Amino acid sequence: MLTVEQALLGLLAAPRPTLAIEEVALTSALGRVLAQPCHAVLDVPQHANSAMDGYAFRHADSTKDGRLLPISQRIAAGHSPVELQPGTAARIFTGAEIPPGADTVAMQEDCEVVDGKLRIRELPARGENVRPRAQDIAAGSLLLHQGQRLRPQDLGLLASQGFSSIGVYRRLRVALVSTGDELVEPGQPLGRGQIYNSNRFTVMGVLQGWGFEVIDHGIAPDQPTALAALLEQAAKQADVVVSTGGVSVGEEDHVKAVVESMGSLDLWRIAVKPGKPFAFGQVRGKPFLGLPGNPVSVFVTLLVIARPFLLACQGLSGGSPVPFRRIEALFDRPGGSREDYLRVRLTGDGAELFTSQSSGVLLSASHSDGLLRQPIGQDIRHGDAVDFVPYALLL
Ligand code: AMP
Ligand code: MG
Repeated sequence: MLTVEQALLGLLAAPRPTLAIEEVALTSALGRVLAQPCHAVLDVPQHANSAMDGYAFRHADSTKDGRLLPISQRIAAGHSPVELQPGTAARIFTGAEIPPGADTVAMQEDCEVVDGKLRIRELPARGENVRPRAQDIAAGSLLLHQGQRLRPQDLGLLASQGFSSIGVYRRLRVALVSTGDELVEPGQPLGRGQIYNSNRFTVMGVLQGWGFEVIDHGIAPDQPTALAALLEQAAKQADVVVSTGGVSVGEEDHVKAVVESMGSLDLWRIAVKPGKPFAFGQVRGKPFLGLPGNPVSVFVTLLVIARPFLLACQGLSGGSPVPFRRIEALFDRPGGSREDYLRVRLTGDGAELFTSQSSGVLLSASHSDGLLRQPIGQDIRHGDAVDFVPYALLL
């Protein structure tokens, strides 16, 4: 069996689809992945402006004895100044452009106006309260890098530079095939021995949350020809094919053999719990991820093993490692032969183990806050510092 680390390296070494670039309006660019580096086109601020409400003046015109300066103009934000007459001051407001000839702003709290003339009680240093041109951003400097996901503050930054649209990678198209004769879609009556197809909803939710377009191909029966036909269709329409179930070692598990007949199976069985039967390969030239059938195994292998690969397929840079943090374990647990991803709840002091760690029911995933990693063969004792990742950082 491969370790989780080996599996991650194997996936990241596999060929990835090339995604076209599309120009989208800034209003619909949230969460999209930037397809090229973005540079500033404007200096910010465009002109030297005032950092305070106060009075702009030429520092050389004033002295400590509080000489009076006539007020020769008034400049509000958004209005253009004229050249400052020598020996005078300009009333100015925050954000307003400094008039040519002035070099300093005295804040209004330090000034008084006597008969239309300004007395500066506290003389500021030369240049004080003036934001110079390009102080924050110089035209040409790097604003955002290629392969980053656009967050609200990034959209604000782009807007502040006047961009109304931006080039992003088109959404990754992922085809989903659920396998299993026992599966029935919610809304249908449940027959004897049947269960509802819950994986479909978990997988679609995770993939859509990562910004992908999911093409659902429904349920494939546990029968090689029908499964092959669905995978064929899936590979034709999508960049990546994902299946659930049918990758274990039972006689009704046909996914591996069918994938091998249509491409290759490059990696199978990982020393991870839950999620051991995870498979990876190619179907008709498209990357193929065979997720296990057990609902919690599906969730964990998606978040821990598939995520870096799929995000790289979408063009995200940085490798997307699981952002573990250290936390205190509030339980004892002996180590096992696989890397264990325990579903835990956060309390004020640390992480509590959810009572049932069964991979067959989603309750442990729904009723927990994140995954706690227990390395192979490593016992956990109450009070130990361990690796934990909240779902919120992975979804
Ligand atoms: P398998 O690897 O196909 O034998 O599946 C392992 C377990 O997961 C079995 O108990 C299946 O019934 C269950 N399972 C497989 N696919 C799904 C699904 N889409 N939704 C819920 N449970 C599933
Ligand atoms: Mg099955």
